[in-house]
Amino acid sequence: MTIDEGSGSRGDNFVKAIANEGTAGDGKHCPKCARDIGIWPIFKAALPSSLRCPHCGARIHYADAGLVIAAMLTAVAGLSYLAYVVANKLVPENASVRLWTFCALLVAMWVPIEYAVARFLRQNRRLRADG
Ligand SMILES: [Zn+2]
Repeated sequence: MTIDEGSGSRGDNFVKAIANEGTAGDGKHCPKCARDIGIWPIFKAALPSSLRCPHCGARIHYADAGLVIAAMLTAVAGLSYLAYVVANKLVPENASVRLWTFCALLVAMWVPIEYAVARFLRQNRRLRADG
């Protein structure tokens, strides 16, 4: 083997490694079918530890998402309390309107957080197939 062939194959491996970085083993593509799962399955799932690929239906999850899940649960608790306090201030008399206000506030505050979490997971964590 000449030196040129050696460096050539190293170059190929490097290109393959870059290509893999963009498809298999990242936070965007299903480990089973290699298609981009998008943001919606992350939204739809209660937690990033239990997702389903929208293309092939495989059960998948984000590896090393424990801290993210802990932060999400903390955020839900904090936002629930905040929404409860604000709903009580806005609608002190009517209990059913207050409940709807509470839900609307919670969703309105949660959506940007969930979106940020989904973006973070897609860029910084890896998808794994369950089991
Ligand atoms: Zn899939």
